[in-house]
Formats: sequence, C-alpha cells, structure tokens
Amino acid sequence: MDATEQTTDVLIIGAGMAGLIAAAELQRAGRRVLVLDKGRGVGGRLASRRIDGAMFDHGAQFITTRDPRFADVLERGRQNGAVEEWCRGFAGSADGHARWRGKPAMSAVAKHLALGLDLHLEMQVVALRSAEDRWRAETATGLTFTAEAVVLTPPVPQSLAMLDAGGFVLTSEMRTRLAAIEYERCLAVMAVLDGPSRIPPPGGFAPADGPIAWIADNALKGISAEPAVTIHARNAFSLKHWERDRQESGRALLDAAAPWLGAGIKTFQVHGWRYSKPMKVHEEPCVLVSQSPPLVLAGDAFAGAALSGWAAVEAILAQRHA
Ligand SMILES: Cc1cc2nc3c(=O)[nH]c(=O)nc-3n(C[C@H](O)[C@H](O)[C@H](O)COP(=O)(O)OP(=O)(O)OC[C@H]3O[C@@H](n4cnc5c(N)ncnc54)[C@H](O)[C@@H]3O)c2cc1C
Repeated sequence: MDATEQTTDVLIIGAGMAGLIAAAELQRAGRRVLVLDKGRGVGGRLASRRIDGAMFDHGAQFITTRDPRFADVLERGRQNGAVEEWCRGFAGSADGHARWRGKPAMSAVAKHLALGLDLHLEMQVVALRSAEDRWRAETATGLTFTAEAVVLTPPVPQSLAMLDAGGFVLTSEMRTRLAAIEYERCLAVMAVLDGPSRIPPPGGFAPADGPIAWIADNALKGISAEPAVTIHARNAFSLKHWERDRQESGRALLDAAAPWLGAGIKTFQVHGWRYSKPMKVHEEPCVLVSQSPPLVLAGDAFAGAALSGWAAVEAILAQRHA
C-alpha cells in the first residue's frame, strides 16, 4: 500500500440519501466504513443553493415516509433541528400525510445523516476494479481506496461507467437489466423575486399540464428570507431543451410560470438534473452485482433511496467476506 492508498472494510460511493443511510447502518454494525462523493457537499439530489441572500431547494422538495425505520431517522433529525414538517399536502393533494423538509434547507437532512461518518468529498471515482479479494476505487485525483466490499449509490449509468472503466464484466443478463433503468431529466430554475409570489400556501404546487411539473415558493416554505421560487420542468421539456442555452430555457419556464409569480425577477439560475428520478423503480431494492468481493448497487432506482440503502446493508452483511 502506498501513501496515496487508503483501505477500509466497506467503501460507500455516493453521499446521497442511500449512501449515507447505508454507511451509518454498516458503521453501527461494526464495519469500518468510508464514504466518497464527487460533490463539494453531501446530499446529492437533496440539494440547496443560496443566491443573493435567497435560499432554494432545487432538487428533492420534501420527504415522505410510511416506513417505520425511516420515520425514526426523520424523528431523530427533527429532534436535532435538521428536519421539520412542512405541510400535510398541497392544493389538490392535501391528503393529510406529512411532508418533511430540511432545516434550514434540504441539504441539512444529508448533513445530519453524515454526522460521525468518515467522509471524503470532491473524490470522483473514475474506475472501480476487483483485484483478488478486494475492490480498488481510483479517483480523478489519482488516489486509490481499497475495500472488502463496495456499495455504489450514484445513478445506475454512472455506476456502470465506473465498472466499465475498471474492466469489470457483468453478465449480459445483469447488464441488460441494469442498462434498462432510465431516469427523467429535469431543468430546475431558481429565481429571486422582488416581491411575494402568487403560489398558494403552503408554498408548493404541481400544475396539471404545461412545461412545469412543480413550482415552489421557498419563502412560504419557510426556508428563504427573500422571495425565492423553484421551478421544475417536466421531462419532455427538459429533454427538448437539454442542449440549448440554459438562460433561454430558464426564461421560457419563467414565462410559463408568470401566472404564479406575480412579482419581478431580480435574478435567476438554472440547474440541469440529468438523472432526476427513475422512470420506473427496479423490482429489487438493491442488486448484488458481485458476491466475491461483494459489490451492491443501490439508490432510488431500486426502491426509495433510504430503503435501498438499508437493503444494501443487508446484502453486504449477508456476504461471508464483508
Ligand atoms: C428535481 C428533483 C425533484 C425531486 N423531488 C423529490 C421529492 O419531492 N421527494 C422525494 O422523495 N424525492 C424527490 N426527488 C428524488 C430524490 O432527490 C432522490 O430519490 C434521492 O435524493 C436519491 O438519493 P440517492 O442516494 O439514491 O442518489 P443521489 O442523491 O443522486 O446520490 C448519489 C451521489 O453519488 C455521487 N456520485 C455520482 N457519481 C460519483 C462518482 N463517480 N464518484 C463519487 N461520487 C459520485 C453524487 O455526487 C451524489 O451525491 C427529486 C429529485 C430531483 C432531481
């Protein structure tokens, strides 16, 4: 082992909801766990951004659960001030089921889940190879992490790219199943307004048709001191506009949102989510790609992200070497 190599029992790639849940649970089970993420912060699609004093959730908008384990996680987050109930539904879908939000914003949920974990950020894994009875993850900065077992939680096409780069050969049946997993795209606009929006309380709304799938008022939501609106485009609009100028696409979405804005736009930014949500959730909650050394693919394509994280832990702990 040289100075650029670190070793652990289980390597988790991806510090989103699935990876963080899996890492914490494996650590509780007594494994040495190390988490790598290419981002500057934790959370993945649990994402928040500040623009000129306004705060935006621009990925996941809220969390719901009917799973008791996840309800416990949210309750611990609530007790620690990282999670808060936002509402019990929106105009047209007020079903009484709790919608949770991060406090002060969605990324706080991930920061809470990451407490106590050995986390390495800005570590893009470019290749994952199996070497004898271990996995070797190579990063874009030339570091190597070795582990007895790996949980891969990025969107599936990104995970497959790492395995391909490492020369790992999947069975053709497995590759066909995994390659069939597709995601919606989503262009997300974050606009700072010069006055309150017309979005009705509690601050979120899913239009029935048109290019906008979701529009939210982050001030009404309780996360922004300044009027701040998040707009999510539908998959069809996002696909059509993906390669076009982002400011122009953002402007088109703001035009479509005019009836709900009711105020001037001070500034806006656009973020493109290439892998926003899986089109269809895979039939298994995670996939054991290799038994020896163990490698599990998890994430929201396989079940809810949190449930997939737990399923990955069970799969890893069931293996002899991990
Ligand atoms: C616009 C939008 C709106 C949404 N709205 C909701 C909602 O309201 N409610 C809801 O429940 N869900 C919502 N979702 C979905 C929700 O955000 C996801 O299901 C969940 O956050 C996925 O978690 P994950 O851990 O599976 O993946 P991710 O959050 O994508 O985490 C994967 C992590 O892997 C990292 N990674 C990727 N490649 C590499 C690499 N090569 N090396 C190292 N790290 C890497 C990424 O940086 C990322 O942090 C929304 C998503 C989007 C984009």
